Amino acid sequence: AIEIEDLHKSFGPLEVLKGVSLSARKGDVVAIIGGSGSGKSTLLRCINFLDTPNWGKISVGGEQIVLRADGTPANRRQIERIRTRLGMVFQAFNLWTHRTLLENVIEVPVHVLKIPKADAIAQARVLLDRVGLGDKTDTFPAYLSGGQQQRSAIARALAVNPEVMLFDEPTSALDPELVGEVLTVIRDLAAEGRTMLLVTHEMKFAREVATHVVYLFEGRIEEQGPPEEVFGNPKSERLKQFLQSIH
Ligand code: ATP
Ligand code: MG
Repeated sequence: AIEIEDLHKSFGPLEVLKGVSLSARKGDVVAIIGGSGSGKSTLLRCINFLDTPNWGKISVGGEQIVLRADGTPANRRQIERIRTRLGMVFQAFNLWTHRTLLENVIEVPVHVLKIPKADAIAQARVLLDRVGLGDKTDTFPAYLSGGQQQRSAIARALAVNPEVMLFDEPTSALDPELVGEVLTVIRDLAAEGRTMLLVTHEMKFAREVATHVVYLFEGRIEEQGPPEEVFGNPKSERLKQFLQSIH
């Protein structure tokens, strides 16, 4: 589970998050939608402290992250520990290019979580198999399609058995014909009850897998609710316009 309360983030004078609160209980799939620049990526990046929030409360798996008055984490080690409980998947895969898929997947389990290498390798094989890459374990990312790279990135994120998976537009860098294979993997994770925050432009997919949808507009939650409400019966004019603009 994850809980975010009154999160604020500015870059200099630019106020990007203006008090965002949201939570995902175990098994929830929260889809985050909104226009370009509305703060979706910043929200995810603040959750794992790739960006430092200015203010707010974040707790992961019931553990609250202790922040100083300026939003910086009071305890670096806590952040490092919490990060390993979050599986982040970016738009641009971010695999280590000089490592094979297997090496990519075992990196954090072995070097951060100190899991014995043989165990980590065995688990990595299972995960790569699950995302359909069981025969590519010794391949380097450059030899893979975008869809395969993104599926590897998902396997790598799963390798820490994260409390919450964070996806930031995982399919938007892919050629259209490769989107489906990545969505299938995410759909399977949703079906098995993984807790996820998913930033996406794939509205049809969001409607199908999300248990809750959050619409961000200029750093605030403009509307939220179950997918059938948010997509089928939007209340806010801005949301109506947004949904029209992307179809
Ligand atoms: P998109 O759909 O295009 O990915 P987004 O909703 O993810 O948009 P963010 O990436 O969160 O939007 O950006 C929100 C705003 O914050 C934008 O105006 C962006 O230019 C600004 N911003 C993001 N990161 C930084 C940074 N490191 N320094 C300065 N401004 C930033
Ligand atoms: Mg973004």
